[in-house]
Amino acid sequence: YAKSTGGNTFQFSSRQIHTRYQRRLGLEARLRRALDRDELILFYQPQLDVQTNTITGVEALLRWQAHDGGIIPPDKFIPLAEETGLIVQIGEWVLHRACKQLKAWQQAGKAAIGMSVNMSPVQFQSREMPAIFKRVVGSSGIDPCQLTIEVTEGMLLEDLDAKIALMKGLKDLGLKLSIDDFGTGYSSLSYLRKLPLDELKIDRSFFIDFFEDTKSRALVSSMIFLSHNLNLLTVAEGVETEAQLRFLQKGGCDLYQGYLFSRPLPNDKLIELLSPED
Ligand code: C2E
Ligand code: MG
Ligand code: MG
Ligand code: MG
Repeated sequence: YAKSTGGNTFQFSSRQIHTRYQRRLGLEARLRRALDRDELILFYQPQLDVQTNTITGVEALLRWQAHDGGIIPPDKFIPLAEETGLIVQIGEWVLHRACKQLKAWQQAGKAAIGMSVNMSPVQFQSREMPAIFKRVVGSSGIDPCQLTIEVTEGMLLEDLDAKIALMKGLKDLGLKLSIDDFGTGYSSLSYLRKLPLDELKIDRSFFIDFFEDTKSRALVSSMIFLSHNLNLLTVAEGVETEAQLRFLQKGGCDLYQGYLFSRPLPNDKLIELLSPED
C-alpha cells in the first residue's frame, strides 16, 4: 500500500509492513486452528414469502466463535481464507454443517424449508468441486432441491465457460443456484442468459436510503421485473422496514430476508421460529 498525491508520498516503513505481516500470519494460524477446534458456527437468517410472511427457508451465515472472545463476523476472516485457499476446506465444512442441520430440523418434525449456502469464487476454481458437493450432499440424506447455492458475480471474472460447466455440474446434482448481491458487480448483464440460475437476490445496498432516493426504488422495481422475465425467483436482502416490505409486496417480489423479521440466529433460537410439520 503506497499512496502519492501531489508530491506528498506516504509509504509504510518496513517495520509497519512487518507488523502487518505478523498479524496476518497470526490470524491465518488461528483460523486453521478454529476449523480443527470446531470454533466455526452457522447462524441462520429466515427468508419469508413477501405476500404471506411465512418462513420458506433460511440462509446459512458463517461466524467464528473464538474460544477466548466474542463472535467474529465473516467479513473479518473470509477474505484471508480466500487468499490462503483455506476457504475450500471451510466451504466444505459449511456445506456439511448446513445439510446436517436441515436433516436435524426434519427429524425434529419441523416443516420442510430450504437452506441457502454462500459459496466463494475460490471454490469455483477447482474442477473437483461438484464431486465434493455430490459426496457431502449425498451422504447427508437431504433432498438436494432443498439446497440453494449462492454465487456472486466475482466468480465470473475469468474463464466463464469453465464456471458455467461447474454450475451445470451442481444443477445435475439437483441443487438450486442463486446469484447473490445482484446489481453490485461489474459484469455485463449478458451472463444472465448463460448461467443456469434459479434465483436472483437483490443486494441490500439498494435498500439503504430507500425512501429518500427515488433512483434506488426505480432500480429495485426494475430488478424485480428483470428477474421475473428471466423466470427467476426474486429475493430481497436487507429489508429493515415495513415500508420497504410494502413496496416489495406491490412490486411482486417473491421472498425477503432482513432485520425487519429477524437477524441471523443460532440454531436454538431459529428452531423456535420454525412451525411444526402438519
Ligand atoms: P451475503 O451472502 O450477502 O449475506 C447477507 C448479509 O447481510 C449477512 O451479513 C446478513 O447478516 C446481512 N443482513 C441481512 N439482513 C440485513 C439487514 O436487514 N440489515 C443489514 N444491515 N444487514 C443485513 P453477514 O452474516 O455478516 O455476512 C456477510 C457476507 O459474508 C455474506 O454476504 C457472504 O458474502 C459472506 N459469507 C457469510 N457466510 C459465508 C459462507 O459460509 N461462505 C462464504 N464463502 N461466504 C460467506
Ligand atoms: Mg448470501
Ligand atoms: Mg447477499
Ligand atoms: Mg450482500
